[in-house]
Amino acid sequence: VAVIAYSVVGLAIYDLGLSNQRFEMLSRTDMLSGLMNRRAFLEEFEHVRGKTSLVIFDIDRFKAINDGLGHKTGDDVIAKVADVLVSAAPPLAKVSRIGGEEFAVLLPALASSEALEVAETMRQAVEVAEFAGPCGPFQVTVSAGVAEGVAELGFSEIFSHADRALYLAKAAGRNRLVHAKDWPEGAAGEGATASQSLVNFDVRRSA
Ligand code: GH3
Ligand code: MG
Ligand code: MG
Repeated sequence: VAVIAYSVVGLAIYDLGLSNQRFEMLSRTDMLSGLMNRRAFLEEFEHVRGKTSLVIFDIDRFKAINDGLGHKTGDDVIAKVADVLVSAAPPLAKVSRIGGEEFAVLLPALASSEALEVAETMRQAVEVAEFAGPCGPFQVTVSAGVAEGVAELGFSEIFSHADRALYLAKAAGRNRLVHAKDWPEGAAGEGATASQSLVNFDVRRSA
């Protein structure tokens, strides 16, 4: 009896272990795209040492896709952009969906010029991909901000630079990359990041 009880308890613990692993895996995965989610991405970043590059991709005029073709098509676009980005990324890249129609790509140990090349390849892959919609095939583009930094300085340091570069890529016409190093701090004036410019907008309005 003791042996049977022991095996049953052992099996139950093994099962719990497995479902725990599954739970852990699911909690790190973005269900729409299958990519790692923001939480998992931040954990990945914690393991990186030394110089690294970060790319933020954001789908251009995505709201118009939702409004014009429906939310379901919007979801399909997010999933397909994820697939295209992953296919075009080098093996060392960590690709994640960090928000609605935003993707972050960590390129450990890649210098600025190599990171720009990788990001450009990924941007072009989206540009030439064909998306299926209710009214026939259509095209989608992404803009990207690229930044290089030392991982030990923390995620928000390098992220804020990439985010500012992304804002500039949008402002410069979309479907393009901007590297943060080409736009030194302050060069973009008041609206250096999307969120900052919104703050400034509110400040100006209430003044
Ligand atoms: P920009 O070129 O400046 O990036 O413009 P945009 O329209 O892409 O950006 P905006 O931030 O105005 O709109 C993003 C929209 O994405 C708003 C939100 O409703 C939608 N969205 C966020 N998450 C999802 C999602 O999971 N599925 C779908 N279908 N839409 C989403
Ligand atoms: Mg966005
Ligand atoms: Mg967008």
